Amino acid sequence: MFQTQNPDCLFCKIVKGEIPSKIIYKDEKCVAFHDIDPQAPTHFLVIPKVHIGSCGEINGANSLVVSRCFEVIAKVTKELGVTDFRVVSNCGSQAGQSVPHLHFHVLAGRDMTWPPG
Ligand code: AMP
Ligand code: ZN
Repeated sequence: MFQTQNPDCLFCKIVKGEIPSKIIYKDEKCVAFHDIDPQAPTHFLVIPKVHIGSCGEINGANSLVVSRCFEVIAKVTKELGVTDFRVVSNCGSQAGQSVPHLHFHVLAGRDMTWPPG
């Protein structure tokens, strides 16, 4: 079904249910689940089911799932009653990316600083 998944990828394993996660929402394109190491009172991740390495690999052939991810962010934050939040996607190790499968952090419930560290 997911021909574009990477068998060695942590988040592809979460999509397939091979690794347990606290899933908040899923549909045919995306999954949202709580971050295992929350950095704010609310901290969840939204990922496409297909394996895309990072924002640097988004292109005309795969970008529809990215807009869906943002629809999911709007839907889930509303459902959680969150109005103020930050969306972050780290791209590459220097930017802090530790899992090479595109994901959007959604953080809320505390004051945020700018610029981010
Ligand atoms: P990044 O460092 O930007 O690539 O973000 C990866 C995020 O995935 C981190 O915030 C981790 O805490 C989170 N994470 C790693 N493993 C898991 C897991 N099994 N379930 C949920 N979140 C995870
Ligand atoms: Zn993956």
